[in-house]
Amino acid sequence: MNCRIVQDLLPLYHDGVCSQESRTAVEEHLTGCEACRRMLADMDAPLPAAAEKQAENDAAVVEKIAREWRRLWRRALLTGTVVVLVLCLGGFAFWYSVTQCAVPMDSGDYAYLNTCVLESGEICVDVGLNRACRNCMYYETDESGGVHLCILRPPLRLNIFLNAYEKMFPFDLAAARWKFDPRDFSSVEPENVYFGVGEDSILLWSKEAGYAVPAATETEEAFWNDWSPGHVF
Ligand SMILES: [Zn+2]
Repeated sequence: MNCRIVQDLLPLYHDGVCSQESRTAVEEHLTGCEACRRMLADMDAPLPAAAEKQAENDAAVVEKIAREWRRLWRRALLTGTVVVLVLCLGGFAFWYSVTQCAVPMDSGDYAYLNTCVLESGEICVDVGLNRACRNCMYYETDESGGVHLCILRPPLRLNIFLNAYEKMFPFDLAAARWKFDPRDFSSVEPENVYFGVGEDSILLWSKEAGYAVPAATETEEAFWNDWSPGHVF
């Protein structure tokens, strides 16, 4: 078979649709003809224009993937930053509320409360604390001339930030004690002196009616006369 006939048959041969006889004849010819082999090889190569278009498409796809990746990366970065900020703020708020803030304890925080008045006129307050506390006493005044003695605790009743000294005492045993003369409590003589704030206020003394707490027993008198605020309980 000469080249012209083979080249006419090549498209059919290439697509595998020629007869077995033609196939055998073409293959025999191809073994000895470089020109026809090249022509067959060219049939598999994409057309130049198509190849260029394909390359353009590939570049566009790569660019699209890169764009998408950059978008996801930016979003992940933003999300991560927001999460870290929220965690930091939350952690700070938690730490601050547990260690740096204080609110007055209410009656639910006391295991017991004992009060008495000594012969000297001093009022004694003995409080057992059953929850995490600052064991920090202070007083505040109300608008009707009342003075309220209170003990502070963190807003969250947690004891995880207490120092080693505070941890030595089991909380149901921790006690706070106070001894004071209501008449010279501050520069201005108060109208009333209470223990606690708000609904939990317990009247200890009033200018009008005097002492509202029981007189100390002999044992209490001895104990409190011997006691000073520096004592460790
Ligand atoms: Zn040939």
